[in-house]
Amino acid sequence: MYPAQLLVIGLQMSILLGGGVPVSFDRETFRLPVMRVQDMVAGFALRPGLDCSTGWAGDDWCETTQPKPWKTYGLVLIGRLLTRLEADLPNFVRTVKANGFTSLYRYTHGTRRDPDGSHTRVLDLGGWVSYMDRTINITDLLVDRMPAQYIRPDFDLRQAAILHELAHAYAGAGSVPEEFLDMTGWARDGAGSWVMDEQGMRESELKLKHAGEKAESWPQLRDPGVVGLPGPDPDQKRRFPTLYSMESPAECFAEIVAYVYFDRDVSDYLDARIIRWIRTNVLN
Ligand SMILES: [Zn+2]
Repeated sequence: MYPAQLLVIGLQMSILLGGGVPVSFDRETFRLPVMRVQDMVAGFALRPGLDCSTGWAGDDWCETTQPKPWKTYGLVLIGRLLTRLEADLPNFVRTVKANGFTSLYRYTHGTRRDPDGSHTRVLDLGGWVSYMDRTINITDLLVDRMPAQYIRPDFDLRQAAILHELAHAYAGAGSVPEEFLDMTGWARDGAGSWVMDEQGMRESELKLKHAGEKAESWPQLRDPGVVGLPGPDPDQKRRFPTLYSMESPAECFAEIVAYVYFDRDVSDYLDARIIRWIRTNVLN
């Protein structure tokens, strides 16, 4: 696998899955071109997506992603969120910045890097984080095209999705704490791949999780009939808020951070120990 793909974590829902990075480059000499700052919020720079006139990215990067500036609606959405997070979670925000993530870039679409080095547009990618160039990238799907059922007064998935990306930036490359892995039931199998303990998962969830056709299962990742409900044993609280949390330890961490912060009903279904750990160690 192209190594940079391992460094990129995306957010999809029917929406979320990892994207690719645009070009191969020499890590030592790599410098991001500086795109102009459109606005500063809570110490983060909001910048247009990297475009091909910088000489940095290949033409197909621009064709597939269509870099664009932030516009009023997106600026208001992200401005409100970052301002709130800075006030509520100063240590969390400080760590994100200390890890080098201080800019958010805007694109029309997500993209995937194919084995031959070319790019394919990914329409169901709401955002992604690249550890290599320390960018947080947000697409139209998240800002303008989020399905209405996910934008509710009590839970706005657009905000949760941005916090999800910030949680990846907080965690850094592949470093989800051991204690979190134990609590959420992640371990490596014989081949070295991460697997999640399936105890307490419902039949319907396992079916979706193991569906070979991701296209069939992704749209149900946030289905209200699938997430946020008790497992087979109503007394046993769950270890994940969404099907997407079962994708990998990194996605599990990012999803749980977002739901513990934004879902006021999270204690109805998520294990109290996990909630406590996230609030004590991350959301502060
Ligand atoms: Zn993610």
